[in-house]
Amino acid sequence: MSPAVHDVVVVGAGPAGLCLAGELGRRGIDVVILERRGDAEPGTRAIGVHPPALAALEPSGATERILAAAARIPRGIARSSGRTIGEVRFDRIGSRFPFVAAVPQAVTEAALEATAPPPDRGSEVRGIAEVPGGAVLRVRASGCGARDTEMRARIVVVAAGASGRSLVLPRLGLHARDYTDRYLMTDLPHAPGQPEGTAVVTLDAAGVLESFPLPRGGRRLVAWDGAGGGRDAGTGAHRAERLRRAVAGRSGDAALAELVGTATAFGIRRSLLRRMRRGRLLAIGDAAHEVSPIGGQGMNLGLLDAATLAPALARWLRRDEGDSEAERELARWERDRLASARAAARLAGLNTALGRPRSPRAHAALCAAIGAAARGPGARLAARAYTMGFDRGAGRGGRCAR
Ligand SMILES: Cc1cc2nc3c(=O)[nH]c(=O)nc-3n(C[C@H](O)[C@H](O)[C@H](O)COP(=O)(O)OP(=O)(O)OC[C@H]3O[C@@H](n4cnc5c(N)ncnc54)[C@H](O)[C@@H]3O)c2cc1C
Repeated sequence: MSPAVHDVVVVGAGPAGLCLAGELGRRGIDVVILERRGDAEPGTRAIGVHPPALAALEPSGATERILAAAARIPRGIARSSGRTIGEVRFDRIGSRFPFVAAVPQAVTEAALEATAPPPDRGSEVRGIAEVPGGAVLRVRASGCGARDTEMRARIVVVAAGASGRSLVLPRLGLHARDYTDRYLMTDLPHAPGQPEGTAVVTLDAAGVLESFPLPRGGRRLVAWDGAGGGRDAGTGAHRAERLRRAVAGRSGDAALAELVGTATAFGIRRSLLRRMRRGRLLAIGDAAHEVSPIGGQGMNLGLLDAATLAPALARWLRRDEGDSEAERELARWERDRLASARAAARLAGLNTALGRPRSPRAHAALCAAIGAAARGPGARLAARAYTMGFDRGAGRGGRCAR
């Protein structure tokens, strides 16, 4: 007996895959999610959920769950040498959600999972072959030794993150660039004395220090650490000591520095697929575009990929013969998402450049330029850019009331 053909198989139960499966399920589409991990990823990566993503997730109920656990960030400030040199107000951009919601990524994923069909965990997709009318996936279930089984679908969406991108290569093409910048990061459970609801970016001639609110008075600290990429980051104790020194030296806040007990290191990459669709094979999320976390937009890009893809895909799957608009809608989706990913990658590249060390003279000039821009219309533009107000999915898959 030949296996059942699902309408859609989503590969990967990260935020992008869970969001897409939930949105398709709500529209009555038969969708299955395959996830190679046995359990949900516990680590905290993305903490910022931006207004367009909050709007897009609202109809499913995920936004309510996220907001119940989130710290709200209505403003951000840039500081240097103990002085505030600029401010951006996310609460003045006319969005329905006038703040960035900060929650650990695991909370966002749990909120999405509550509205999606349960993922088939422990199922690794090892290959995808396109066949007339759909695709055949080769799947290895954990505990089944080296035996692969086959699954068939009319559409396959790869949402398998950067590590699963190989499933769509070379079919969708890739443009990749490695950065040498390395960062240190820690999430503090408590950080008394920090400005409430305020993201603080400290520009320093030795490199940037970022400090973001977390739920229940916590704080995420990220500091530029060197130009060795993800390599040469030293032992855990060395990393924590370097982060303590960076916090104390750049912010002048010795008490905050003393709270740092551990630190992780990460490097950054920029990888953009040239296409996000070929026939019945699509890629979304980090599988399609990996941008530096120093813009804090990677997960949000994936959520907007998913939220805007679901209605277009549902229409395409149900199209009558001769409904060429369904095909055009998918083509528009691809164009818009590629453009949004390129814009996010450019912003992340700018942030990365602003956060590098520089000579005291160049640093003074940069601070003066930022101060001048923040006093004019630049502050409003920056607030929109940093909350993804220019993403082409803002106001479509999830409408941002303006
Ligand atoms: C330190 C750090 C901080 C960050 N901060 C932010 C932030 O503040 N804001 C933000 O927007 N983004 C941030 N990001 C980026 C964000 O974490 C990613 O963009 C996001 O996780 C991508 O989601 P995804 O669903 O596309 O992929 P992933 O989260 O990588 O999920 C992919 C899933 O697919 C599964 N998978 C992989 N291969 C297979 C296979 N062959 N078969 C079956 N399953 C498979 C994986 O196990 C995984 O569960 C940060 C990243 C880092 C590293």
